Order: sequence, then structure tokens, then C-alpha cells
Amino acid sequence: MTAFPHLFAPIDLGSIRLANRIVMGSMHTRLETMDRPLERVARFYVERAKGGAALIITGGFSPNAEGLMEPGAPLFDSREQLGEHRPITQAVHDAGGRIALQILHAGRYARVPDAVGPSTIASPINPNAPRRMSEADILRTIEDYATTAMLAREAGYDGVEIMGSEGYLINEFTAPRTNDRSDDWGGSLDNRLRLPVAIMACVRERVGKDFLIIFRVSSIDLVEGGLTAEEIAAQATAVEAAGADVINQGIGWHEARIPTIAQKVPRAAWTFAARLLKDAVKIPVIASNRINTPQVAEAVLARGDADLVSMARPMLADAEFANKAREDRAEEINVCIACNQACLDLIFSKRVATCLVNPKAGREIEFDAPPPARAKRVAVVGAGPAGLACAVTAAERGHQVTLYEAEARIGGQLNLARSVPGKEEFDETLRYYRTRIERLGIDLQLGQRPSAQALAGGGFDEIVIATGVTPRLPDIPGIDHVNCTSYVDILNGRRTAGRRVAVIGAGGIGFDVAEFLTSAPQEVTATPEHFAAEWGLDAHIACRGGLGQAPRASPPPCGEGLGVGGLQDRRDSPPPCPSPTSCRRHAFGVTGEGTQTGRGQHERQVVMLQRKSGRMGRGLGVSTGWVLRLLLAKRKVAQVSGVAYRRIDDAGLHIAVEGEERVVAADTIVICAGQEPARSLHDELAARGAKVHVIGGAERAAELDAMRAIDQGTRLAYSF
Ligand code: NAP
Ligand code: SF4
Repeated sequence: MTAFPHLFAPIDLGSIRLANRIVMGSMHTRLETMDRPLERVARFYVERAKGGAALIITGGFSPNAEGLMEPGAPLFDSREQLGEHRPITQAVHDAGGRIALQILHAGRYARVPDAVGPSTIASPINPNAPRRMSEADILRTIEDYATTAMLAREAGYDGVEIMGSEGYLINEFTAPRTNDRSDDWGGSLDNRLRLPVAIMACVRERVGKDFLIIFRVSSIDLVEGGLTAEEIAAQATAVEAAGADVINQGIGWHEARIPTIAQKVPRAAWTFAARLLKDAVKIPVIASNRINTPQVAEAVLARGDADLVSMARPMLADAEFANKAREDRAEEINVCIACNQACLDLIFSKRVATCLVNPKAGREIEFDAPPPARAKRVAVVGAGPAGLACAVTAAERGHQVTLYEAEARIGGQLNLARSVPGKEEFDETLRYYRTRIERLGIDLQLGQRPSAQALAGGGFDEIVIATGVTPRLPDIPGIDHVNCTSYVDILNGRRTAGRRVAVIGAGGIGFDVAEFLTSAPQEVTATPEHFAAEWGLDAHIACRGGLGQAPRASPPPCGEGLGVGGLQDRRDSPPPCPSPTSCRRHAFGVTGEGTQTGRGQHERQVVMLQRKSGRMGRGLGVSTGWVLRLLLAKRKVAQVSGVAYRRIDDAGLHIAVEGEERVVAADTIVICAGQEPARSLHDELAARGAKVHVIGGAERAAELDAMRAIDQGTRLAYSF
């Protein structure tokens, strides 16, 4: 008897039967741009099929050249391309899986010169304005969808998904935001729904009854001029009547200013909108976004909010998600932590997706090394992300591993990161490693700092130093003042900040600390109700787009531009500072503005400082940095760039900005000035002539991040 009876109940979708309710959602990976693309893509999907996902939906393929996301993006418009698909469908079927092809016309999001749309209204996230489609264009495009669906059938796919959400072409026709037409394809709701219905009907007519068609409907647009609940339900009903077998839930346009999949979005936060679709139609509905554990998925299905769950990123994080859940091994699942760092952020920066917690994702063929000839004795010092990844991978490959950790618990920097609101998902990563350490029989030595002598004489074949970093202490007179503290003590709760806080350093950790100091506690921020209130959501979608009160941040104090939903916003260049004088006043803590934090029920004023000039937060994640910048702006966190630090004393932090001497009257000064590698143990061992490896922050503190650390630890273990 499974612990997840709803999740593992079979279901009939049109002409096919699925063994369970787990759908691997569509995700563009760019794998096709790497070497050995067919082999890579096939292997990527095969691992997920073997791992138990009942249905895989591919990344989007455009039905014609105008609909390409960018030049060279996936296109499926001719029989000559069949050979690029058949090995993939065959491999998935051989592995016992099912696979559907997503058809995605990017509309005005297409970064191609001849992009088209219902109107000439340009998207804020694409510098190219679209050409308004003529009636002939529309009819040809409908035919193109049908042709691609036919090709998909011929290539061996089990079905297609028609992408009708996220602000792409079909969605642009349905919403008054982008559809200003006065012909048969615009104006009334019936006219605005004409394109999705016509595409659906044409595709069904061509492929026949026995071919799965999923239609992805935008369940909440999250933009002004989007659809209302009534209109969304009408669209779902209309595509059902036109022949859809399943409705998949889409959420938010890419230009929306509300996060939809970032860590800040609570788990299952959007299932209220899936419920809206479910109540409108009789065919099965798939719920999506921020469903990342079998427990959450089971609850969604048990509540009746949907019939299936879509998980895209969780399948990157763990290809065996479904099998582990079914076999009562849920605690062995490597859960997607919604960081976007190694998937969407890489995609948006024109690189190939992988996964922070699972560097093998999309790189499966790079980890085909045969098991080692003999089991080695491996010592790993440091149980942060690099050390954990190395120790667990080495043990998986059959080596005998001893893992030393100076603290009383594993995790290193992850223990700090997990205290930031939204980042508590790191708890899942820690749970995963704890379970793996135990089940693999790794000798975990907590509270131990082995000496170089002990390691060198310990009979180890491989010694790995993953001792991490130490916070950098800037050379500022008075840095040892009682009011100064490190981000470490703030985040781990050893020190409580006062009412007026200066944060020295505005890297990822400076931003995290500012967020931590101005947030409600995690138990509040993790609730869908808090999320809805903070971002001005209208859960009834009575207002267009589901925007109850749109999240309008007052202009950020220091001229910071706004970013949007993962794609680069062409308005991202910083607007001029609206009021330099008041900015200064923010910085010097005299405005009386601040944030109700819930951490002590008082107003806290936070000022972030950096020596560099220009906008802060340039190094934050492409798909998530805008969320953090917007939140801090809403909370009136002041940001001052181009400062020179003078000294710290009882009056506060003395700085100079543009030649002007000032005092930030802070009662707490938090140092977030980066880190230095903690590598003395490595150096000592190397001096003794020992064979030693150094990884993670201990090797290089700059660009310290869990993505590099886990990748490096995993790859090193494969070399043993
Ligand atoms: P960081 O990104 O290197 O930022 C260090 C900050 O300290 C900079 O703003 C720098 O700005 C300042 N600084 C450096 N040396 C200084 C000195 N001697 N005196 C005064 N200020 C100094 O380091 P971090 O913020 O500790 O983050 C470490 C890594 O963690 C990041 O690279 C990132 O990969 C990861 N991380 C990312 C996120 C995220 O993306 N949300 C969150 C947390 C951590 P100036 O030199 O201009 O003053
Ligand atoms: Fe999930 Fe982060 Fe991996 Fe992306 S990189 S799949 S968000 S854990």
C-alpha cells in the first residue's frame, strides 16, 4: 500500500492510460545545442521515464519560423525533422514511458525579426515589436499547428500539448491587454477565444480521436488586461468542447511582476486557480508550479483541486522522484528547492540547463564511468555542499568514505541560507544528504577537526578538503565595535539586529540579510495567504489578471530598475533617482520610513551599502533577482552605492559619498563583505607532500555558491 494513493492511481487520458498522476512538465533545456544532442536529449528523458514519471512533455517546438523563441530555437515544421525525434520517442517507449510534444508559438515574445501578434503592442520584455497578423496569417498559423501535431504523431509521440498560456501567442489573442482587434479575432470574448478554439479543433480534426491532446490554459494571467475567472472558465470549456483530452494549468505571463515559481512562492500556491479549471470542465486537469514533493502532490489531488500534477524542475532534481515515492522511499528524494539557479537562470543567460542539487541532470552521458576497479578509502573534511556531494557520490560508487565536520550538524553554509525567508527549501537538501549518509553507511564524524598529521597518516587513498570559507573582515577602523556583527551571527540567530541597520556589502548575502531583517518570520511568509497579500493577488480573479491591488513598488530609493518574470526586461536600465535628497536621507536614517518586520514588532530601517557605483544586485539570479529587488524596494530598504567607508564608532558608520562626509546612524552594522577560502588544512597537507584535493569555497571563495560546490564535489568523486 503506497503512502500516496491518489498519486499512484492510474488514469485514462483520451486514448491512453497512465500508470500514475505524475507528469513531467515542459521545460526548455537547450540540450539540443550541446554535443551529441540526440543521445543527450533521449537519455535525459529516458532516465525520467525509467524513474516512473507517467508522461513526459517535451520543451516547446514552434510550428513555424515566426513563432521561434529566438533564432535557432526548436522548430518542428517538416518531415525532414522526423529523424531528430524518432530516436527520442523510441527510447522513451522502450523505457516504458509516454511522451508528448509541446507546440509553442512565442507570439510577441519571439526574439526574431519577424515576430507576430494579434496587435502591434510590444512586450516589455522584448525589444522587437510584433507585426499585426492578418486574417491570412492567422489561418496559416492554425494550419501550422495542425501540421506540427501530425508530424509529432508520425514521429511516435503519444500526444501533443498546445501551449496556450504564459503570455505566448494564443494567450495574447485571448487577453484585452494585447488584443485590440475589431475583426472576428478580437473584441468580444467569443472572438478572443476564436484562435485557441480554432487551433484545438483543427488539430483534433487532423490527428483523429486516438491521439492525446493537452491544452495549456492560463489559469491566472497576473497582468493588467488579463482574463477574469469567468473568461478563463469559458476558455477551458470551449477548448474542451473543441476536442481537448486534458487541460494543463498555466500561471502568469512572463512579463508579470509577481513571482510564479521562485522560492518565495509557497508550495502549491496556485492550486486555487487549478480548481477554477477543474470546476469548469469534465476532462482531467493538471495542476502545476511549486509542487515539489509527493506529500504536496498527494494533498493537491486528495483535495480534488486537480487530477494530475505537473512537475518539471522536480524531475531535474531527481529523475527517480516517482519510483522513490511509490516505493516508500520519499525521504530519499532530492527535492527541487526552486532556486532557478542552474535551470532557468542558465537558460535565460543562453546556457544549457542542469540542476543545482543534481549536476547530472542533462549531463547524464557525462556520468557513465564504469564502477572503480577497487574500493578506496576516502576522507572528506567539511560537510557543506561540496563535501556532502563528494562524500555521497564517492560512497555511491562503492568507496569507503569518512566525512568529518567541525560543527555538530552537516550543512555548512546551507544552514545559514535556510534561515532566509523562502530558502527553507534547503531543509530538503539537508534531509536528503542525511538520509543518503545513513543509507550508504558513510562514517560521519561530527564535531571533529582532523589534523593534517592524522589525515596524512590515516591510510586514506584520497583526501578531500571542503572546509568552506570564513567571512571577510573589511579593514575599516572600528570594525571590532560592539555594534558590528557578521551576517553569520544574524542569520543563525546568535545576534538580533536593532532598529537602524547598516549592511556593508550588497552581494547575494547582503541582499539575503536585508530580506531577512525586513521579513515576517518564515512560518508566516511560507503561507499562500501571506504571499497573496504581499503581492496583491485576487484569489477570486474577479479583477482582470487576478491583480487585486497590483504590486506597485514606490520607485526604489536609488534609481533601481525593475526586472520581470525571468526574461530580461528592456526597461531594466535604472531610471534616474527620483529624489536624491530623500535617498540620502534614507541612507542616513532620518526619514522615519521603515518596515514592519514581524521580528520584534517595530519599524526597522535598513540601509545597504557598497563601494562600487551603479545599481545594486547585478549579480543576483536573472530569474529571481528582480523579485528580491522589488520586495526590498517595497519595504523601503535604502541602497547607497559608491561609498567610501571611513570608520565605525558609537555614532554609527561614517562614510563618504560623492565627496560628502556622512554618518549612517545605525545601531547594528552587519558585515556582508564576502568571504575568504578556509584552506589552511589543505596547505598543511600539501606541504607534507600528501595527495590532497580542495573543492568548494575552500578552493575559491569568489563565486562561492552551492551550484559550483555540488557540481565540483560530484565530479571529483567520479575521478576516484
Ligand atoms: P559577494 O557576492 O562577493 O559580495 C560581497 C560584497 O561585499 C560586495 O557587495 C562587495 O561590494 C563587498 N565587499 C567586498 N570586499 C569588501 C571589503 N573589503 N570591504 C567592504 N566591502 C567589501 O559575496 P556574498 O554576498 O558573501 O555572496 C557570496 C556568494 O554567495 C555569491 O557569489 C553568490 O554566488 C552566493 N549567494 C547568492 C545569493 C543570491 O543570488 N540570491 C544569495 C546568497 C549567496 P563592494 O566591493 O562594491 O563594496
Ligand atoms: Fe530546482 Fe534549483 Fe534544480 Fe532548478 S536548479 S531544478 S530550481 S533545484
